[in-house]
Amino acid sequence: MSQVWLIGHPVAHSLSPAMHNAAFAKLGLPHRYELKETADDQLVATLDRMRREDVLGANVTIPHKEAVLRLLDEVDDEARRIGAVNTIVSRAERLIGYNTDKYGFEKALEAQPRRIPWAEGFPFADDRILILGAGGAARACALSLLEHSNNVDIANRDPARAEALVRSIEVDGRRPAVVPWPRGREPGDAVVNATPLGLKGEEALEDVRLPMWVIDLVPTAEETPLVKRAKATENVTVVDGLSMLLHQAARSFELWTGVPAPLEVMRAALPRPV
Ligand code: NDP
Repeated sequence: MSQVWLIGHPVAHSLSPAMHNAAFAKLGLPHRYELKETADDQLVATLDRMRREDVLGANVTIPHKEAVLRLLDEVDDEARRIGAVNTIVSRAERLIGYNTDKYGFEKALEAQPRRIPWAEGFPFADDRILILGAGGAARACALSLLEHSNNVDIANRDPARAEALVRSIEVDGRRPAVVPWPRGREPGDAVVNATPLGLKGEEALEDVRLPMWVIDLVPTAEETPLVKRAKATENVTVVDGLSMLLHQAARSFELWTGVPAPLEVMRAALPRPV
C-alpha cells in the first residue's frame, strides 16, 4: 500500500482524506491519503521521509506552499510561474512539484451557475477584482485572473508579502496592484478570499457591501459566514471553496495515479453538495 500525504499546519479538519480515500476505494487502488501535521521546522525532514518511504506524493497546504518550492528536485513550469506548489509527485526518490490550485479555481468559476445573466466563458475582463491574501492560494488566483482581466488588486495583512507577490507575478506586462484592506469601502466587482478568515466563524469582509462575485476559497464543512451572507444577497454569484477543493483534488489525484479521477465519487465524499 502506498501513501499520499497532506503536509501542512493545521491539517486536522481537512476534507481531502475523505475525497481521495473514496476515489482510491472506488478504483480499487491500494493507496491511503494521510494527514501529516508539519510545523515549519519539520518540512525538510518530512520531504526526506517522502523520498525514502513508499509515498506516491503529497498535497501541500497552509503555510508551506511557497517554502516547499525551493526544497524539491524539480518544479513544473506553471507552479514556478505561480511561485507555489500544492502537489508533489514522488518518483524514484525525486520530488516533483506541481500546482493544481489554479486549475481548481478556474473549474470552480466555470462550474458556478450565475445569479445574474452574464456572457459565457471566463467571467471577468474589465472588472475590478480584489484578492484578499498573498500566500500560495492567492498567487494561483492572481495568475489565473491576470490572464483574463486588467484590474487585479491584492490586499494582505502584511503588505510586504503583497508587494513580493506583485513583483513576481506578471502576465503580458500586467501585474496586480497592492491596495489597503477594504474596510468600509466597496471591493470592486469581485472578491476572492484567499486567507483562512472564515474558519473560526469570523467574516472576511465585515462591514463591506458585497460585490457581484464572491469567491471564498476556505473549504469548510459548514458554509463560511461570507458565503452565507453572499448567498442571502440578491444578485451575488458565490463560488464556495469546496468546489475549488474538489477540482484541484481531481487534478492532483491524476498526477499521483496516472488515471482519470472519479469526480462524482469525490464530490459525494464532501460534506455538502457543491
Ligand atoms: P498561505 O499560508 O500561503 O497564506 C495565508 C494567507 O492568509 C496570507 O496572505 C496571510 O497573511 C493570510 N492570513 C492568515 N491569517 C490571517 C488573518 N487572521 N487575517 C488576515 N489574513 C490572514 O496559505 P494558502 O494560500 O495556502 O491558503 C490560504 C487559504 O486558502 C486557506 O484557508 C486554505 O484552506 C484556502 N485554500 C483553499 C483551496 C481550495 O481548494 N478551496 C486551495 C488552496 C487554499 P499574512 O501574509 O499577513 O500572514
